Amino acid sequence: MHAWKNPEVPQVVGSAPILELFNTATGNLQATASADAAKADASMYVCGITPYDATHMGHASTYVTFDLVHRTWLDSGRSVAYSQNITDVDDPLLERAEATGVDWRDLAEEQVQLFRDDMEALNVIPPQNYIGAVESISWLVPVVEQLLESDLAYKVPAGPDGVEGDIYFDTYAAQNDAWKLGSVSNYDRETMLGFFAERGGDPQRVGKRDSLDPLLWRAAREGEPSWDGAKLGTGRPGWHIECSVIARKTLPAPFTVQGGGSDLIFPHHEFSAAHAAAGDHHELAQTYVHTGMVGLDGEKMSKSLGNLVLVSKLRAAGVEPVAIRAVLLSQHYRTDWFWTDDLLATAQERVASWRERLETTSQHEATTLLDSIRSHMANDLDAPGALDAIDQWAAQPAGTSNDGAQLLREGIDALLGLKL
Ligand code: ZN
Repeated sequence: MHAWKNPEVPQVVGSAPILELFNTATGNLQATASADAAKADASMYVCGITPYDATHMGHASTYVTFDLVHRTWLDSGRSVAYSQNITDVDDPLLERAEATGVDWRDLAEEQVQLFRDDMEALNVIPPQNYIGAVESISWLVPVVEQLLESDLAYKVPAGPDGVEGDIYFDTYAAQNDAWKLGSVSNYDRETMLGFFAERGGDPQRVGKRDSLDPLLWRAAREGEPSWDGAKLGTGRPGWHIECSVIARKTLPAPFTVQGGGSDLIFPHHEFSAAHAAAGDHHELAQTYVHTGMVGLDGEKMSKSLGNLVLVSKLRAAGVEPVAIRAVLLSQHYRTDWFWTDDLLATAQERVASWRERLETTSQHEATTLLDSIRSHMANDLDAPGALDAIDQWAAQPAGTSNDGAQLLREGIDALLGLKL
């Protein structure tokens, strides 16, 4: 699938220190390159949207966060391979299509386009590999066939709807040196069971070897889209195997960063890693990075509560995308936070004050501020700290020289993606 337009990222003198990120799997800050290979190629997989309700502020916060990872790597002279999927066939999408009387393909297409437009407006660098679940089916079928042959996957008997042929992953049999249950999430079994039920899993499904075993292939049902799965039979893929296969097909093994919202830690990232380890005996990623959840005015943001803040709606109301991006950067990516109108108003004031002060920036001011932004960003993406540093510079009395204006404007764009 095509992604969106690549923004021009200015090249700025100097370079960022090695980026350290908090790794969920180890619970520690981890360098994303070794000191003797600081400019080594970097690679990243960020889980994409299921195309409905795009692009709410939680999505925007996640993709802007990983855009900061991307920009920090580029600034430090690294080339970046970046893949993202679109879960363009899955239960929530089909349910929404059914409920609204829209064909699921039309709903997906419309929402993916909305997402592309929002990403472009927010100055997010696109992935080179933007792959839909439907596009990945021919890659995925042989992988699941192999798991079946190794007895790491199995078919369960028909459930209450009488349909046979659903294929599940044998979680416990699949454990090996590259992955054990909890390697990514570090959750205990009780926590896993809770999240599994809450986030699309089916712990109660009769006939599974273990209640945590995730679905790999769902046999065709009347009224549901399905594809030829060779030995798997007709059906459609599970979600974790989709990402696991797209990541392994398009990126080195293990790749540098697996990213997504903190609600993807379990079961999604745990089992994406498990599927890779079971099939290929290697770790999927070196670092697992997760963004906090975004609510609205003290409440969880969800379609059912009717309180989704959509990027496209704000844009349509005339809000400048750079101000939206500045709100996102004003919160540390790992914290849970709430969108408020006050945050947006503050961001708009900040952007205005930065623009005004930019006109009288000396070369010395520009290089000092860029150094400061770079060290904040290398430290687990401390974007709020970087914005505070910009505020401090903006609060200083205007100088008489403007020979640093262009450097600073380009540096803030290159490092933070803020177009002033
Ligand atoms: Zn994923």
